Amino acid sequence: MTKHSSWLIPCKDWFLVDIAFEKVQKLEWAQNRFLLGMKEGDIVYIYKTKPYSEIKYKAIITKVKIKYSDLQFNDSEFIIKKRNYKEKDLFFEFEFCNDLPQKKITFKMLEDWGFSIPQSKKLPNTVAEKIANAFAFDLLDNDDNQIQEKINLAEPATTQQAENSSKRTLDIVGNKNSEAVQRDIKYSKYVLKEANYVCQIKSSHTTFLTNLGFQYMEGHHLIPCTVKNAKDFEKKYNVNIDCVENIVCICPTCHRAVHFGDSEVKKMLVKEMFSQHKEILKNIGIDITEDELLKLYI
Ligand SMILES: [Zn+2]
Ligand SMILES: [Zn+2]
Repeated sequence: MTKHSSWLIPCKDWFLVDIAFEKVQKLEWAQNRFLLGMKEGDIVYIYKTKPYSEIKYKAIITKVKIKYSDLQFNDSEFIIKKRNYKEKDLFFEFEFCNDLPQKKITFKMLEDWGFSIPQSKKLPNTVAEKIANAFAFDLLDNDDNQIQEKINLAEPATTQQAENSSKRTLDIVGNKNSEAVQRDIKYSKYVLKEANYVCQIKSSHTTFLTNLGFQYMEGHHLIPCTVKNAKDFEKKYNVNIDCVENIVCICPTCHRAVHFGDSEVKKMLVKEMFSQHKEILKNIGIDITEDELLKLYI
């Protein structure tokens, strides 16, 4: 199996990438001579140049070596400076996956990792791994930062609250650069209780009994509860993904593996959870394929 490579592209402030990330799924970008080795399925990280100097977005490459005459998207609303592309230039297409809050991967960190010139290029494996890890950690932070502890102590939602949880208005907190979905832990607690504190990936997984007398388990959002996903799913399906139908009760080992496992491990676990949850998601109107879900874990 060939591992996908990771690339870095710098983005100057005349391209309004933050707005693009909010508004569109895909973009086309010049594939200059340093990027010619790019392949479909590779990862590309978008580095915002000064005054930000940080990696902000992760995307997956969906098409490469596109001719100027075959460009499909009009991105002029995100550009505040004229560009001069030539007929012979090549382009690649990418689809946004995730973003990081400000200052998670700064120029200084890249420098410490031995990557001091953030220009268009293929990333060395060691740096690519560190960046990928930062994105994975961020997803876990969002999902779990001290939250699991609170979930275990929380009172579960009532059945009526649980039934309506997908219809709630989305609660986004924080400022523009560090938005987060405000999750209501009583729904996770409800799911844990309903699952009898048994790991839904494998029921034989045991942990330990808590002071409260039940087995310690964690709540995981099958469709990861990022701001981007929350907004996308609200728009497309009119559903709040912080709902009981989207939460799975799993043991802490499975949970870490879902976030930090290599791509094969993640795939296996997500597939297992999805096979059990597909119909449940359909019940609240979310009609998503396994491939679409797996993409959210890249
Ligand atoms: Zn999780
Ligand atoms: Zn487990």
